[in-house]
Amino acid sequence: MSQQLTIEGEGFGPDVPVSTDCFIGAERVAGEGEPFEVTSPIDGRSLGTMCSASAAQVERAVRAATAAFPAWAALGPQRRKEVLMRFAQGISARKAELSVVETRDNGSLLIANQKRLVDRAAQNIRFFAEFACDAPPVMIAGHVDNHVHHAPAGVAALITPWNAPLMLSTWKVGPALAAGNTVVLKPPEWAPLSCSMLADIAQQAGIPGGVFNVVQGTGSVTGQALIEQTGLARISFTGSTDTGRRVGKAAAESVTPASLELGGKSPFIVFADANLDEAAKTVAAQFGNAGQVCLAGTRVIVDARVAEDFERRVRKAAEPFVVGDPRTRGVRVGPLIHPRQLERVDGFVQRALAQGAKAMIGGGPAEQGGLYYQPTILHKVEQQSEIVQHEVFGPVLTWQTFGSEDEALRLANGTEYGLAAMLYTGSAGRAERVAAGLVAGTVWVNCFFVRDLAAPFGGARSSGIGREGGQHSFDFFCDIKNVAIARDSFTEES
Ligand code: NAD
Repeated sequence: MSQQLTIEGEGFGPDVPVSTDCFIGAERVAGEGEPFEVTSPIDGRSLGTMCSASAAQVERAVRAATAAFPAWAALGPQRRKEVLMRFAQGISARKAELSVVETRDNGSLLIANQKRLVDRAAQNIRFFAEFACDAPPVMIAGHVDNHVHHAPAGVAALITPWNAPLMLSTWKVGPALAAGNTVVLKPPEWAPLSCSMLADIAQQAGIPGGVFNVVQGTGSVTGQALIEQTGLARISFTGSTDTGRRVGKAAAESVTPASLELGGKSPFIVFADANLDEAAKTVAAQFGNAGQVCLAGTRVIVDARVAEDFERRVRKAAEPFVVGDPRTRGVRVGPLIHPRQLERVDGFVQRALAQGAKAMIGGGPAEQGGLYYQPTILHKVEQQSEIVQHEVFGPVLTWQTFGSEDEALRLANGTEYGLAAMLYTGSAGRAERVAAGLVAGTVWVNCFFVRDLAAPFGGARSSGIGREGGQHSFDFFCDIKNVAIARDSFTEES
C-alpha cells in the first residue's frame, strides 16, 4: 500500500490523494533516502513528506528500465501508440486533479493549468506517439542507396525543473517512450507531486512495468545518483545552467548523449516602427508564472526615440498583472516557488538598486508578504551589471534604450545566454535582418510563446546543448544508423 498525502481542493477543485512513494518496476516503493517536506508556495503550508530514492534505489530503477527495454522496443511504434494514447487520455481525464495539485505544489496559475498546461501535457504524449508512427523512412540516393534507421536507444534518464513539472516532464517522456525507450524520471523536489500522479496514470494506461519509473528526491542525492548510473543510453535535462554543467560532466564521463535545456536572459527588442500597444502587452506578459519562465524576455531593449511613450504603455499594460493567490480569478502573478527563490530574486533587485538602478515599477516584495513579489522593471542599468547579465527567474525585467539597429543587436547578444529573443517591428526587412543577427534558439517576431510541438526548441551558448521538438526529440532518443547498399548488388529478392 502506497503512502499518500492529500491535496485539498478548498473549493477550487477536487481533493486529490497523491502517492509520496517512488514508482519502480511495476510498483510503488517507499524511499530509503532522507524524506523531504513539500510546502506550498501559496501560503507556506506543509503538504506532507515525500520519500526520497537512495542511490541503490536509483540503480534498481535503471535495472527495471533496462529489463523492460527489449519488449517495449520490440512492440513497434503502432502498438506503443495504442498504449500511449491511453496514457494521454488518462492525463486529460484527470485535468481537474492535476491542475489543483500542480497549482498547490508550484504556485502556477490554476487557470493556466486548467486551460492550457494539462492539455499540453496530454498533447506532448499524443503528438510523439503519432510522430513515431508517421515518421517517413529516410532514403538518401547518392553513390549508394542509404537507408536511415531510427532504433530505440535504451534507458533514458529524464530530469525536470519545478516551474512547469508536468508539462516539461511529458515533453521528454512523450518522445522517449514513443521512440521505444524506457525511462527513469527524476521530478523536481520543490514540486514533485504531478509527476507522482503521472506514474499512476501510466500504470492505469497499461504501460508495462519498468517502462516508466519515477525516482523522487533532491538533485544533489537522487539526481546526482541518476546521472552517474552506468547503462544509461540518454540523459535529458531541463534546469539551471549550473546544474546543466554538472549533468554535462557526468554524461561526458560515461559518453552518454545528453540534451541540456538551460537558463536564459532573453532580450525583448522594440523598434520605433512596431505596434507599441501589442509590444507593451507582451512585455507585461513576461510577468506570467511570476517570471519563472526560462524563455521570458527579461531584458527590454527599446528604441530611444519612443522609449518614453513606450514606458507609458508598458505601465498601463502591467496594471492587470495583479499579484495574489494563483487560484483566485483575476490574479495574474502568483508566488515565487520557495523562500530561497524569494531571497535570490530580491537579492538581485536590491543589489541593482544599490548600484544605481531605478525601479520603473515594483522593486521589492509584494504587500501580501509570503513569497509574493511585485512585478518589477529596473532602468538605468549598465550592460555589464549583474542584473543585466544573470538570470533572475522572477518577475523582474530590465530596461535599456538603443540608438541604432547595431546597438540593439549588441545589447541583445551581450550576455552568456542564447535561449530566446523577442523582436517587435513593423518592417519585414528589419525583422529578417535582426532575427538573423540574434544569438538565440528561438526568435519570436511580433509574437511570444508560440511553441509548435514540431518546431525545434533549445538554447545557444550557456542556454544549452541540443534541441527538443518534433524530429529533434525523436532523433535524440534514437540510435540513428545508416545502411549503405551498393546499387544492383543483390541477386535475390528476399
Ligand atoms: P535546477 O538546475 O536547480 O534543478 C533542475 C532539476 O535538476 C531538478 O529536478 C533538480 O533536483 C535536479 N538536480 C539538481 N542538482 C542535480 C544534480 N547534481 N544532478 C542531477 N540532477 C540535479 O533548476 P530549477 O531551479 O529546478 O529550475 C529553474 C531553472 O531551469 C532556470 O534556470 C530555468 O531557466 C531553467 N529552465 C530551462 C528550461 C528550458 O527549456 N531551457 C525550461 C524550464 C526551466
